[in-house]
Amino acid sequence: MKLILLGAPGAGKGTVAKQLTQLDGSVQISTGDILRGAVQAGTELGKQAEAYMKAGDLVPDELIMGIMEKRLQEPDCARGFLLDGFPRTIPQAEQLTELLNKLGIKLDMAVNIDVPRDVILDRLTTRRTCSNAACQAIYNVKSNPPKQEGICDKCGSPVVQREDETEEAISHRLETYNEKTAPLIGFYDKAGLLVTVNATSSEAVIDAIKAKLNR
Ligand code: ADP
Ligand code: ZN
Repeated sequence: MKLILLGAPGAGKGTVAKQLTQLDGSVQISTGDILRGAVQAGTELGKQAEAYMKAGDLVPDELIMGIMEKRLQEPDCARGFLLDGFPRTIPQAEQLTELLNKLGIKLDMAVNIDVPRDVILDRLTTRRTCSNAACQAIYNVKSNPPKQEGICDKCGSPVVQREDETEEAISHRLETYNEKTAPLIGFYDKAGLLVTVNATSSEAVIDAIKAKLNR
């Protein structure tokens, strides 16, 4: 399947994407994971992105498009992909449309995961992430804690609160979402690709996506 996952920070895009990869071998492409990996590795890209990310601001479109143009041409994308956290601005969406045309790739749909704001806020403040750049497993201190406190079940690395998950950075990320990313809902609606799912459990979101794909 070839999907875009839309939704506010904390809507569950990453969780849904990871579960969808199990269905048909499609790959999850998270620009946030790629950027955090680059910051940890200290690459040129990481150095350019770090300050924006820490403040909860968007990284410039040119950097993101450079990453995605390469990533979408890697062989593993042939089986399908789940775009998680990209596109995030209208210019990114427009350039993605051009890029996909150029590569001869057709999207199945853009799924808007619509979750109430109070649920989002609660999730983001209780979310914890594995500090190992190669793992980045996601936990929640309330609903999905690691078996041993503070230690990743999958790789044994420390599980931490992301630097952009302080209350201040979170509210800034949500503002940025409303201003820059929410307009993509209209963009993909016009393109005839939009599917909105109002569901807070990832299972319900996945069931809705499966039902749409099978039609
Ligand atoms: P979340 O969806 O939880 O906000 P992500 O892991 O998707 O977090 O992204 C973390 C940060 O990485 C963003 O706040 C932003 O700084 C940067 N980022 C990720 N994807 C993009 C993108 N497509 N365009 C611009 N910045 C991005
Ligand atoms: Zn881990």
